[in-house]
Amino acid sequence: MNKYDSSIIKTMLSKEKFEEVTSPEDADFILLNTCAVREHAEKRVIGRLNSLKNIKTKKPDTIVGVIGCMAKDIHNLIHHPTVDFLAPPDSYRNLANWMKSEKKGLIPEVKDEEYNDIIIENKKIGAYLSITRGCDYFCSYCIVPYTRGKIRSRPPDDIIKEAESLSSGGVREITLLGQNINAYRYKGIDFPEILKRVASIGGIKRLSFLTSHPEDIPSNLFSVMANSDNITNYLHLPLQSGSDRILKRMNRRYALRDYIDIISKAHKLMPDLTLTTDLIVGFPGEEEDDYQKTLTAVKEIGFDQAYMFAYSKRKRTLANLFPDQVEEALKKARLQRLIEVQNRITEEKVKHLLGRKMEVLVVGDAKRGGKLGKNSSGRIIIIKGVAKIGSLYIVRINDINGRVPIGVIKKEV
Ligand code: SF4
Repeated sequence: MNKYDSSIIKTMLSKEKFEEVTSPEDADFILLNTCAVREHAEKRVIGRLNSLKNIKTKKPDTIVGVIGCMAKDIHNLIHHPTVDFLAPPDSYRNLANWMKSEKKGLIPEVKDEEYNDIIIENKKIGAYLSITRGCDYFCSYCIVPYTRGKIRSRPPDDIIKEAESLSSGGVREITLLGQNINAYRYKGIDFPEILKRVASIGGIKRLSFLTSHPEDIPSNLFSVMANSDNITNYLHLPLQSGSDRILKRMNRRYALRDYIDIISKAHKLMPDLTLTTDLIVGFPGEEEDDYQKTLTAVKEIGFDQAYMFAYSKRKRTLANLFPDQVEEALKKARLQRLIEVQNRITEEKVKHLLGRKMEVLVVGDAKRGGKLGKNSSGRIIIIKGVAKIGSLYIVRINDINGRVPIGVIKKEV
């Protein structure tokens, strides 16, 4: 979402004649888009702000703005010696004028901001497109409802207009975004319907979405995914914990059984589904038995990949007040073990792809040579050989590097 917001800001600022430069030393304005979801992300921003002191010393006129969730969550940041202004997530419409007037302080937010009319400029093959902002769920560990406010769904016409503009500009892969995307609803139009409408736009070869909450999966979502050629059979469905007791304390609104039922339905309709998840270990009150339940769930479900974290205390959230916090060392040890277990599962899953042929969209250059592609299940594939970005190829997987499948081109589609 922050990457998407950076694109909104870039689009708005370029309309106001601001130009992007390649190094902070050359900039008159430096904007740091920030995430408040974990303490680690915040520490990195503080480190970055400290390192900008040198630039401010050499060029005292340089203006530094902290934008994004930290700007909303930590108003004290304005007292950091490097910071000139704070721009929280719903204030970007006022950003250009604020920068032109070189005002200091906190930029006021716009109520119920959706940035509906901003059509993002994108020159890449892949693009994000936000269809909802905010979240109403208040999971007990999560800062998002405090920093991004209540859920707002964008009007379908604006979404379609932006998707068409992306497609005619050369974008071939769109990822729809929302903190709880399945809760999208606008005057009777629900998430599967908007998904179908975007999928029907010519030129879009891959359409994915992030992030789903198990509570809100619409009954027809998986059939819409399965029956479309360009909607990827990819589902990122955060489980967070395998213990019902901890899920309840997290205020997640589902039990492990519900989660398993949902993914069984998804697998039935999409046998090639790529399933990824988020997991938190060391949540307050997590006993060894709860943790073992998470390990067991991970082994039984067999996620293709998981984003795993040690619980991070966030001020203002309910879990921050829970008295039975887990010791840091124990959290780290549990995380380490979980990562080892999941990595082995991911490796096994990838091994099963060896020898298989699949349709892959080339989305960019791979860091260490070759091209980066995505198959119809949203899985990253490295392609060896000459391939054109934006084209589809039939690729045969003949090798694995770490946990990434590597393929050779058989033919262009
Ligand atoms: S559903 Fe997601 S964004 Fe909303 S409160 Fe829960 S974790 Fe945060």
